[in-house]
Amino acid sequence: MRQPLIAGNWKLNGTKVSAKALMTAVLEGAKEIGKAEIAVCPPFAFLDLGERLLSGGRVRLGAQNVCTEAGGAYTGEVSAAMLAEFGCRYVICGHSERREYYGETDAIVARKLAVVVSNRMTPILCVGETLEQREQGRMQEVIASQIDAIIEHNGIASFGQLEIAYEPVWAIGTGKTASPEQAQEVHDFIRHRIAGHDATIAAKVRILYGGSMKPGNAGELMSQADIDGGLIGGAALVAEDFLAICRAGDAAAS
Ligand code: PEP
Repeated sequence: MRQPLIAGNWKLNGTKVSAKALMTAVLEGAKEIGKAEIAVCPPFAFLDLGERLLSGGRVRLGAQNVCTEAGGAYTGEVSAAMLAEFGCRYVICGHSERREYYGETDAIVARKLAVVVSNRMTPILCVGETLEQREQGRMQEVIASQIDAIIEHNGIASFGQLEIAYEPVWAIGTGKTASPEQAQEVHDFIRHRIAGHDATIAAKVRILYGGSMKPGNAGELMSQADIDGGLIGGAALVAEDFLAICRAGDAAAS
């Protein structure tokens, strides 16, 4: 296992008061965490708060999305340079909710990855198949096409500058988790796909699992050889649960 990364995706949740309480609790609890790297990705509106509470500390700040463009007439968008200014270390790119509800294609995701990297932040590239695709036996085809599209647009070297999150769409927010064996199979597939182009990059890239990861299943998932942490949705909104997952990451790494 590589150094685990546990990143919380808060999605569209919280108020100024609850975001402050959650960040403060995670920051306090993080003092007990040894090896695992910890990040929280609140909505844009709370990045300023995140910068003030977290900068220089143990918990890194991330964003959930970014504009492909550097600036100009793109109402409602936020640029990578703006995220970097707020001290963001990570930016989630291509989450299945963005792909499904906002029409993000692989080409758009590739451009997002590029603007994030050029602003010295690290993208978390999300990939994953739907239940229908899995049931049709198309899981590998779907994952391969999502990975290959990034290789085609941004080059294999771009995988040396990002994190990957395997998030089976059928497991996100549903309470259904991929079994450790199911998840490991896909993580292994992704690593081999990258290794086909560059074995050194493949060995180093972190592949997080996301999809109803909870304190009760995190340890078993992260004990798999190719699961290097988690991208956590629902459980990231409860400080004790999120910290319990961080501890599981620590335990898996030792
Ligand atoms: C996510 O939103 O990336 C996610 C994995 O959500 P959940 O943990 O709630 O399934």
